[in-house]
Amino acid sequence: MKLLEGQFAVITGAASPRGLGKATAQLFAEHGATVAILDLNGDAAAAAAADLGAGHIGLACDVTDKAACDKVMADLIARWGRIDVLVNNAGITQPLKIMEIEAKNYEAVLDVNLRGTLYASQAVIPQMRSQKSGSIVNLSSVSAQRGGGIFGGPHYSAAKAGVLGLTKAMARELAPDNVRVNAICPGFIATDITAGKLTPEMNKAILEGIPMNRAGEASDVAGCALFLASGLSAYVTGSEVDVNGGSLIH
Ligand code: NAD
Repeated sequence: MKLLEGQFAVITGAASPRGLGKATAQLFAEHGATVAILDLNGDAAAAAAADLGAGHIGLACDVTDKAACDKVMADLIARWGRIDVLVNNAGITQPLKIMEIEAKNYEAVLDVNLRGTLYASQAVIPQMRSQKSGSIVNLSSVSAQRGGGIFGGPHYSAAKAGVLGLTKAMARELAPDNVRVNAICPGFIATDITAGKLTPEMNKAILEGIPMNRAGEASDVAGCALFLASGLSAYVTGSEVDVNGGSLIH
């Protein structure tokens, strides 16, 4: 059964080849969606979209730039006539301790993870409201729930906790228009977000904290995003769904 047949989905930060966004884009496309991949580099986004097959599109969009978000979503609405799903996946992290966080670190991490989620959502909400349907899926993190301890520093935990608050408040406000908003809290997933900075010792310590005794796969998160994007979760809004191999059970 194809769960997103005829639907139009936008995924931010989805050009990273081993990333959660790309895996989600792939699964959405397999389920019949037409997908727009947004990322900082337009060529990389276009290449990622081409991997999905014909009809998908890749565009440059820095999610910290409100005008860029508004423009790209307006262009997609002009092309498609609607947007059914937005996955706010663009994110960055930095392994800093509390006293190491400088203004530039705070701004970079808060801006991409939290401000970007706000701006991309604001750019699709009027359309989703007028359609009286839509699903927004935000990427938070187990770091928000347990105070880091995986890779990202306290500013990353704060940004992702902010994403949870934003998710729940948006869910409450948009529910009357049948626009659902949910968050995914991945645990440790093997992607390139750690940018080669994960030492073997860190890796060992992380795995010891995971009852399922393995890192997550990007496809583990994509499956959850598909559930939240699709009608299978029609009565689910304002939730935070854990995809963490048991590393936080609460
Ligand atoms: P990744 O580094 O593989 O991909 C992130 C993508 O975001 C990259 O393609 C990057 O170019 C893009 N990006 C960065 N800044 C951007 C901006 N300003 N505008 C648009 N795009 C931008 O990361 P990933 O591991 O696939 O992570 C995806 C999301 O999941 C992130 O929000 C991350 O915080 C979250 N997450 C990841 C893990 C994990 O273990 N991998 C765990 C919890 C949460």
